[in-house]
Amino acid sequence: MVSEVREVKMYINGEYVESSIASIFEVKNPATQELIARVHESSKEDVDRACQAARQAFESGPWRTMPVSERCQKIRRMAEIIMERREELARLEALDVGKPYPVAFEREIPRAAHNLKFFADFMEQQGGETYPMDEDYLNYTRYEPVGVASLITPWNLPFMLTTWKLGPCLATGNTAVIKPAEMTPMTVSLLGEIAKEAGIPDGVVNVVHGFGPNSTGEFMTTHPEVDMISFTGETNTGKAIMKNGADSLKRVSFELGGKAANIVFEDADLEKAIPVSIQAAFLNSGQVCLAGSRILVQRSIMDEFVTRFKKAASELIVGDPQEENTNMGPVVSQEHYEKVTSYLKIAEQENATLVYGGKRPNLPEHLQNGYYLEPTIYLQENPTARICQEEIFGPVVTLIPFDTEDEALEIANSTPYGLNGVIWTENLQRAHRVSHKVRAGTIWVNCWFVRDLRAPFGGFKKSGIGREGGKHSLEFFTEAKNICIALQ
Ligand code: NAD
Repeated sequence: MVSEVREVKMYINGEYVESSIASIFEVKNPATQELIARVHESSKEDVDRACQAARQAFESGPWRTMPVSERCQKIRRMAEIIMERREELARLEALDVGKPYPVAFEREIPRAAHNLKFFADFMEQQGGETYPMDEDYLNYTRYEPVGVASLITPWNLPFMLTTWKLGPCLATGNTAVIKPAEMTPMTVSLLGEIAKEAGIPDGVVNVVHGFGPNSTGEFMTTHPEVDMISFTGETNTGKAIMKNGADSLKRVSFELGGKAANIVFEDADLEKAIPVSIQAAFLNSGQVCLAGSRILVQRSIMDEFVTRFKKAASELIVGDPQEENTNMGPVVSQEHYEKVTSYLKIAEQENATLVYGGKRPNLPEHLQNGYYLEPTIYLQENPTARICQEEIFGPVVTLIPFDTEDEALEIANSTPYGLNGVIWTENLQRAHRVSHKVRAGTIWVNCWFVRDLRAPFGGFKKSGIGREGGKHSLEFFTEAKNICIALQ
């Protein structure tokens, strides 16, 4: 399976179709640089067909008007099919992204199924409000679908993040045009056949492929039939999408970049803080928006933290993503490898101390061309240095010392981002106090990446616009309507 080259077509109006301009782009395995897929690029005309199909399915198909229970049953069926195909999907995700297969199999594919099932179940529980006005009038609300959504996702968690958007989009009765990142299209392209098998009507789910500016992504965000855009990706891409969607006044939900502070106070339980901080730094080769990429350590425990953290990093097994015992694979592409490794030079120029890593690991022959970097740890006293401020999005973590709680907060809040934060302390008052003062959308105390899908998810500052999760997702994907009835 690993050596097979797949042909990835678009899925439009219930059919897999080829690029109208016969444009094909290639996807390579980041662990080996072997060709793994040829992908049909969606032209402007292809995107138009997908958007028209989604519009038609919204306006006149049965999807929007069918009973909620029937619609949600079909979405739950998609979740079941995903779990039936769990191994295949996890293998493809590992192949495409270079992430360890066990991570995809144990975490991401089940979470993708859960995203769909959760929103189907949640939608069935929803009601509206009533507002009686004296004796004469009764107001009530309805939450109606908006229309056609463009769902655009990045390459780090392709299937999980797409279903995170698709679940609430479909449960509320909208239709979708989906674009996975150009580097990782394989699992998301299968959503077409999964939707078909689950009985989702043609045109409700469409998948197109291609790049961003002047390509598929831009066509999807300027198309007049698209009512809303749910986007996850880089902050600068969010800015471009907002500009492109402005002319047709599209509503947007953005989940953007992050540079989380993982704050370790001197009273932290290091038995727990060290292994979780290792995960937060190096899971998916650090290519996680929620990564704890700045570890703020109270100076009194810095030496002990460095020794133990370094030892734990050295025990990570870097290797073939398809093998069961691999903890860390490569980064996703040549271009991204160059970006990540450029920060090694920047760190050196800014006088950061290299604590661990910083070079290619020793790897077996078949991985010699892979985009691998050792788990890399720097110590940097200056929190304004670029490695402390910019999102590197790779296996590079920076330790920053602090003396007081106020200083920790000042450093934590000093970047343009505000997606999440992590706090390690055994002091209850401090846990609450610091949680309230870190300017970020999610704060984890003595844990990391624990998600309850009812909870709001999104970023402060340049980390996003709006919230997804539970009722927040349903709000984005619906129009609230007030109906006022005269009773006399
Ligand atoms: P990216 O912004 O380069 O690309 C994301 C998607 O947008 C891709 O599908 C791409 O083709 C498309 N795109 C690019 N330019 C576009 C344009 N002008 N118009 C329309 N679409 C366009 O991001 P990436 O490099 O794939 O992913 C990494 C980034 O995603 C990081 O910044 C990371 O923090 C962020 N991210 C955020 C979250 C979150 O929940 N906040 C989750 C995962 C990743």
